[in-house]
Amino acid sequence: MRAAPHDGRMDIQAFDALVIGAGIGGATAAAHLATTRRTALLEAEESAGYHTTGRSAAIWILNYGTPDAQVLTAASGSFFRNPPPGFADVPLMTPRPVVHLAPPEQVPALEAMMAGGEEIEPITPEAVRAMAPALRPGYAAAAAIQRNAFDMDVAALHAGFLRTVRAAGGVLALRQRAGRIWQEAGRWHAETGDGTVFAAPVLVNAAGAWGDEVARIAGVAPLGLQPKRRTALIVDPAPHDVSAWPLLGDVAHTWYARPEARAKLMVSPADETDSDPCDAQPDELDVAVAADRFEQALDIPVRRVEHRWAGLRTFTPDRGLAIGPSGTPGFFWNCGQGGYGIQTAPAAGQLLAALVNEEDPEGLRDIVPLVDPRRFAKEFA
Ligand SMILES: Cc1cc2nc3c(=O)[nH]c(=O)nc-3n(C[C@H](O)[C@H](O)[C@H](O)COP(=O)(O)OP(=O)(O)OC[C@H]3O[C@@H](n4cnc5c(N)ncnc54)[C@H](O)[C@@H]3O)c2cc1C
Repeated sequence: MRAAPHDGRMDIQAFDALVIGAGIGGATAAAHLATTRRTALLEAEESAGYHTTGRSAAIWILNYGTPDAQVLTAASGSFFRNPPPGFADVPLMTPRPVVHLAPPEQVPALEAMMAGGEEIEPITPEAVRAMAPALRPGYAAAAAIQRNAFDMDVAALHAGFLRTVRAAGGVLALRQRAGRIWQEAGRWHAETGDGTVFAAPVLVNAAGAWGDEVARIAGVAPLGLQPKRRTALIVDPAPHDVSAWPLLGDVAHTWYARPEARAKLMVSPADETDSDPCDAQPDELDVAVAADRFEQALDIPVRRVEHRWAGLRTFTPDRGLAIGPSGTPGFFWNCGQGGYGIQTAPAAGQLLAALVNEEDPEGLRDIVPLVDPRRFAKEFA
């Protein structure tokens, strides 16, 4: 823990909790903390969803990810279906089935997936073609469908959490990168670029890809977080009306495509390329790979990529989330959301707040050890 020299000239703004990073991880943490603690949510960028949160595929899939992620996803379902009154003026999720396509060599993997997964039903490739007529005959030897999957309105969810923070008297401070962080007299202090110092007894690190960097600045052991770049592109499927198509992808998870803004398709090569924390940009090779795999499966030539982007999905060493205390008093983590940070957000924020407030996390008790950030302490101390 580093102590910063106190020169007596600092403008200190006192709160009951500081949250670093206003992506979905920080927004849900701050919203849940703000009900009992005056909370400051610090964001380095001009807009709160600039990094990974604003770059997701926005899909909610019940059986996706590590066991802890699946529990948090299931526990978040009721919030998505019935958010608190006034939280959002649009539905937070709408049905979007997911179809897993198995080319001949992926049939054993499909069978294994169906043996292990709940709510995954077989469907014939012909039935998939009835839903998505551009599917090339002969691409899939077998297929399965998950009907319990949804499109999420990420912007509405994120805005709802930020509004909740403000309504509870909390502060969202944009363009405030915490550059120096230290603990003094039982309070965490975060100094931002313009010299403002925010102080509180509790600090939550929700800095996404920068999570380990924030920990290092604070003198707290990092977790070994690894940001991984994922690419997405928008293509025009005209003349097909894709608005009611399911999300389509192969079982080996080498590509997927989902309807976007009703008339377009978002395509991803499902890449996971190690990256440093940064403003991720798409690599042309990944864009070309995505287009090629998509064209092999669907009779839709990619003549023009209308838009492309990349974002960093940040994983802990075991790919579970990191929610809860560090080994350093008052310093908490809400990091390592990987590819499921949006769909797990409501329950993750609730769990984080319960752990900060030393309350019983009720239905989430069983996953506390699975998400405990201290499980990495020995490895990365
Ligand atoms: C292509 C793609 C598809 C995805 N699809 C899905 C999906 O379908 N479903 C799903 O649930 N998830 C999906 N994800 C994952 C999801 O987007 C992430 O898990 C989630 O957005 C992570 O949120 P975060 O708040 O941790 O990170 P971020 O949104 O990156 O927020 C972290 C914030 O911390 C700020 N910050 C960093 N350092 C500091 C500092 N020192 N001071 C102040 N602020 C700081 C950053 O500026 C940033 O805004 C996808 C991701 C990608 C890239």
